[in-house]
Amino acid sequence: MNVLDIALPVQQDHLKSVFPTPPSIPEIFVYDNNCQLRKHLIATGDTYFACTGLPVDVFHFKAKHRITDTECQQYCNPAAFPDLVDGDQWRVNTSICEETNAWFGGFASMVREMEATRYSFFLDEMIKRRNRFTVKQLERRGHHPWTIPIEVLFPSERM
Ligand SMILES: [Zn+2]
Repeated sequence: MNVLDIALPVQQDHLKSVFPTPPSIPEIFVYDNNCQLRKHLIATGDTYFACTGLPVDVFHFKAKHRITDTECQQYCNPAAFPDLVDGDQWRVNTSICEETNAWFGGFASMVREMEATRYSFFLDEMIKRRNRFTVKQLERRGHHPWTIPIEVLFPSERM
């Protein structure tokens, strides 16, 4: 059993917990290893994300995915998704996870010695502040960020 044999089912389960209901499943889900995830979903007969486009993020696609992998090029090339491209410009920052990981790295020395509850609380507060800032910044630039209503994600826990 290789690393992907273990990692992909975990990612598959994690994705289903992030998108737990049909209305919450995205039309496009960008991920750095989508070609392997796609192969895994097909191999296991999992149709949960059958209507979801699975492009690889631009950075990883250029650096880590072989041009000779025709299946990857056909199904996971971000440039093949019209919603992601406007002419020769990207409409979506598909490398935001890489940027967010770099942002998280800035807290490493602060949280290294924290116990778990304080660590989770601290990062949760930092993430909330960053998200509020990002939403305001997007609105100032004329964009219309939105969130998925909680009742769509968790219909049994309606408030
Ligand atoms: Zn690939």
